[in-house]
Amino acid sequence: EPGLYVTATPIGNLADMTYRAVEILKKADLILCEDTRQTAKLMSAYGIETPRAPYHEHNAARARPGILKKLQDGAVIALVSDAGTPLISDPGYKLVREARDAGIAVFPVPGANAGVAALSAAGAPSDRFFFAGFLPPKPGARAKALAALAPVDATLVFYETAPRLAGALSAMAEAFGKRRAVVARELTKLHEEFREATLADLAALYEETPAKGEIVILVFPPESREAGDADIDAFLETALQTMSVKEAAAA
Ligand code: SAM
Repeated sequence: EPGLYVTATPIGNLADMTYRAVEILKKADLILCEDTRQTAKLMSAYGIETPRAPYHEHNAARARPGILKKLQDGAVIALVSDAGTPLISDPGYKLVREARDAGIAVFPVPGANAGVAALSAAGAPSDRFFFAGFLPPKPGARAKALAALAPVDATLVFYETAPRLAGALSAMAEAFGKRRAVVARELTKLHEEFREATLADLAALYEETPAKGEIVILVFPPESREAGDADIDAFLETALQTMSVKEAAAA
């Protein structure tokens, strides 16, 4: 079916490509890539020979009208980014928005995402999370962004780069106090690592031993609002009260 296929690719382990993603990249008329050379590696691993075109921050505005025209003429176009799910701290939002505004079909082809991968295995509360993506690099703007996030009652998910990790963690310790956090590094790759401690301890650790690679930071919610025994007890109590009222009414 013609339309725009927003296609996730692996975040490190090449085998995390889905069958459907391979199928769609093979049958598409065109693959829009954040970096055509990066995508070429993936394509050669899966024997995909579809033509490629760049679609990134710097050419997006210029490229969009031509892409929308092709879509309107019935093309099957796949959008990929260098890693993981397009639009998630990656290009594509305006293209999807304008495609939908033009009545073009847009299909998700889901797969890897670094934030969700981190949440799935870190052991941080996963019932509610807030995706904060990349923080502003400048300390002033970063502190302001963190202050705004401090009251959010959910696990916070951040993307960070290795050189900024220690600085970000100490700014978080300042903004969030004693909350625990997990640094999830190099997910699905050879040197995958999860480290959990307080923000201050993690800041000290990475200040001393700088980390390499790609990083997700998960910050636990303010206080612990995991669905613990207390919540379950409270729920059962309410349920039992409701039942006995109904039973009394029936009697
Ligand atoms: N679209 C991607 C996704 O769905 O996760 C994110 C792209 S964003 C430009 C790149 C950032 O994602 C990295 O700086 C890092 O914070 C995170 N990331 C990507 N791959 C990762 C991995 N294998 N392990 C840990 N973090 C990763």
